[in-house]
Amino acid sequence: MGNHVIVLGAGIVGVCCALELRRRGMTVTLVDRQEPGMETSMGNAGVLARSSLMPFNHPGLWGQLPRLLKNDTVQFRYRWQYLAANLGWATRFLASARASVFQETARALDGLIRLSAPEHIKLLDESGARHRLRDTGWIFLYRSEAAWQAGALARRTFAQYEVPTRELAPAELAGLEPALSPIFPRALWIQGSYSVDDPHEVVAAYADLFRREGGAFQRLTASAIRRDGSRWTVQGTNASESVSADRLVVALGPWSKALLKTTGIDLPMAFERGYHMHYSGREGARVTRPVYDTGGGYVLSPMARGLRLSTGVELDACDAPARPVQLDLAEQRAREALPLGERLDAAAWLGRRPTLPDSRPMIGEAPRHPGLWLALGHQHIGFSTAPGTAKILAELMRSGGADRHRAFRPGRFI
Ligand SMILES: Cc1cc2nc3c(=O)[nH]c(=O)nc-3n(C[C@H](O)[C@H](O)[C@H](O)COP(=O)(O)OP(=O)(O)OC[C@H]3O[C@@H](n4cnc5c(N)ncnc54)[C@H](O)[C@@H]3O)c2cc1C
Repeated sequence: MGNHVIVLGAGIVGVCCALELRRRGMTVTLVDRQEPGMETSMGNAGVLARSSLMPFNHPGLWGQLPRLLKNDTVQFRYRWQYLAANLGWATRFLASARASVFQETARALDGLIRLSAPEHIKLLDESGARHRLRDTGWIFLYRSEAAWQAGALARRTFAQYEVPTRELAPAELAGLEPALSPIFPRALWIQGSYSVDDPHEVVAAYADLFRREGGAFQRLTASAIRRDGSRWTVQGTNASESVSADRLVVALGPWSKALLKTTGIDLPMAFERGYHMHYSGREGARVTRPVYDTGGGYVLSPMARGLRLSTGVELDACDAPARPVQLDLAEQRAREALPLGERLDAAAWLGRRPTLPDSRPMIGEAPRHPGLWLALGHQHIGFSTAPGTAKILAELMRSGGADRHRAFRPGRFI
């Protein structure tokens, strides 16, 4: 095969893949309908944490199900018509919560996160964006002893994978984050982890680095993907626009499902949507690192723009209209924890976490589609794991070794 590769999708995953492939001597065209990093990779909570090895579908999920299905929690909402139409995905997602699959997922995600963190730091240095990184970890907050007990599986899993953590007494929490109200009798500090204060600026800096190193960026809205002989073509919505190369990497995040349908691939992907809003913080009240209020169902991250409140999961179609009731509920809970002050955005931002049934991304060549590569399905942790994804993809493309990365092989669902 020739040396030219198209990377379709310039979120954090596509940008990291494009840069890594360029550094391995390939001719790379990065394609997106807008400037890099304008979608999911912009609006996330900015956390890069070892603790993210714990997927949503863990063995404790079964016990939580009766409560979650009532559809009135802040943490989890769903549109029942969407769930009914995606029962196949939901069944496989729940089946993947059993201990054996969960352990395989946690092990795979731990490896990916460990691979990614030093790469992120290197890329932040090289792209001039290191000032956006904090190495102060993040804090899980618990509103009651019962909530703390309910987090026992997560703590055992962190211990098993040697994620550095420290239990905080209320006075220690107050010392670290004095702006928080004293409503959290228990807290767990996830150490050895990072966060950034502007995810979009980080993606933009990596994309600039890619361009400086000779990569090409092209604006095009893809409407279909097709194979022309030994080449792959991305067809634009404008009939006269298309781009072709020997290989194509699909890194369209949540939009991968719709575009891959045009090749006949039907991905079992669902959309764990989430919202964010920025706040001024009354009289400058802020947290100095992200905090996760486990009972309130939100993450509060200090960002360059203000305090970013991001919500839990709303299961619905990728492009269904926003229903920010979840944000309103999370905001009420967050105001109990901190004087949030004024809303700074005119409307809530809506993002979609693209999730495959086992909560692992797909990294590798699509079965029976030589030259079509996939880097997608990064659910809650794509910002953290994009650089590791790029390393694995490039390694597979250049020298094979699929067995080592079996946990991510596309063939498990295609
Ligand atoms: C509320 C929330 C909080 C989160 N918090 C965190 C966190 O703290 N840490 C973490 O690691 N992860 C977090 N995530 C998850 C993370 O943001 C995603 O996993 C990650 O951004 C996915 O990146 P991506 O590059 O795959 O997709 P995207 O960033 O969505 O990129 C896809 C790209 O495809 C382009 N595109 C789409 N359709 C077309 C088309 N037809 N033609 C051309 N281009 C197209 C889009 O313009 C976009 O640039 C969070 C997600 C949400 C929603």
